[in-house]
Amino acid sequence: MIRIDVAVVGGGFSGVMVAANLARHASERLSLALFESGELGRGVAYGTKHAQHLLNTRAQAMSAFTDDPDHFVRALGINGTPRSFASRRVYGDYIAGIARQAFERPRFSNVKDRVASIERTTDGTFVLKTETGTEFEAFCTIVATGNALPNDDFLPLSIVRHPGYVADPWRFDYRVVGGRVLLVGSGLTALDALVALEASGHRGFVDVVSRHGLFPEVHDEASTPYDVVPALDARTARTLLRSFRRQIRDAAARSFGWQSVLDAIRPESEALWKRLPVDERRRFDRHLRARWERHRHRAPAAVDAVRERYAASGKLRVYAGRVVASELGRVSVRLATGETTELMPDWIVNCTGTGKGARLYRDPLVSDLIANGLVARDPLGYGLRSRVANLWLAGPLQRGTRFESTAVPELREIAAGVAVEVIEALRADAILTG
Ligand SMILES: Cc1cc2nc3c(=O)[nH]c(=O)nc-3n(C[C@H](O)[C@H](O)[C@H](O)COP(=O)(O)OP(=O)(O)OC[C@H]3O[C@@H](n4cnc5c(N)ncnc54)[C@H](O)[C@@H]3O)c2cc1C
Repeated sequence: MIRIDVAVVGGGFSGVMVAANLARHASERLSLALFESGELGRGVAYGTKHAQHLLNTRAQAMSAFTDDPDHFVRALGINGTPRSFASRRVYGDYIAGIARQAFERPRFSNVKDRVASIERTTDGTFVLKTETGTEFEAFCTIVATGNALPNDDFLPLSIVRHPGYVADPWRFDYRVVGGRVLLVGSGLTALDALVALEASGHRGFVDVVSRHGLFPEVHDEASTPYDVVPALDARTARTLLRSFRRQIRDAAARSFGWQSVLDAIRPESEALWKRLPVDERRRFDRHLRARWERHRHRAPAAVDAVRERYAASGKLRVYAGRVVASELGRVSVRLATGETTELMPDWIVNCTGTGKGARLYRDPLVSDLIANGLVARDPLGYGLRSRVANLWLAGPLQRGTRFESTAVPELREIAAGVAVEVIEALRADAILTG
């Protein structure tokens, strides 16, 4: 058994940033093992095979450190400006660089293995067993296993078994695609798919099916900072919506766009969410979340231009509806209008994004953690919450408990906060001093 102070499970953005914050602030004596079988710092978002995949957030908002907002812009140097949208691969290089620096510490190690199970001992420590059978005992454990694949439980089995079905749109190499493509979902992942298809020389037809048939809104070049009045009195989803609409009207009267209002609401969104009772959070989730996300997670204009090029060439068809069946390669789509249409795709890519937690709860480690009572599902069914001391969750696993825990501006805060709590826990138990 190998004994360590801290175990970090998962080495995407979140796991690396917990380790990097510990490297910055904890005593040299702290020992840490980070479990990641892939390249550190990439994860699903920044390990894309396609250089044309861009960040959907401007460089100025993408520093990995909350207390050093220009860190990423400085790292870009002459290869970008604060308002540019850098390539996601370049961002992966940046986080990989931070990881390299953190792991120069002699007592930090990257275990190139996946964690299969985590158990809590009667002393309150954790025993982590890797897939190859090595055991580690840790005083503190952080689970940062990130994004689950898009849900597929709503898709007919015949689609999932289609020979051209792509379950993982993020790690897929679009260069192998030819012929007619069906994208299920029309969010940022569908735009990513179009970007990769175009860059790979695909010249076929693309059909897109999603509930509303709407793509994300596009970043406004001129979005200017706006002072929003937080709707602190809102206790229902409806009053929250009314308050947003009122603010957008007031802003428009002062020549500010809705984008400026949404950007100003973002730092307040956590407090607003926490004030809503669980039933109202559910209502927001059911009726407003899709609309909120379409406006809040906007696409760079250069990315939307790819969609426009496909549309202008007559090769893109967008349907509001849902996929209901597939037979002999033919896919039936029930349209929002009540009619049914049939498509004949060679490839079907699941672009429904990170969605709810159905797929997450099927992950072997996550289901093990739920079964042994170390974590519980959050009330809305998006992510997890820790149920025991000295076990933290970082990254999108906090979705549901926190309103925003999908993008870097929030994830870096979560990672820094977890690092502070870990240092406090180690000090409280006199494992670390100074
Ligand atoms: C396609 C995409 C694009 C995005 N683009 C942006 C953007 O432009 N701007 C922005 O702000 N945010 C963006 N995000 C959101 C956010 O930055 C990412 O979700 C980020 O990848 C989250 O990092 P993470 O480390 O929490 O999770 P992940 O990146 O999912 O990393 C989790 C890691 O855990 C490892 N792992 C999983 N299970 C185990 C196990 N049992 N044992 C050991 N290791 C394990 C995996 O190998 C993986 O490397 C994007 C998200 C996606 C999906």
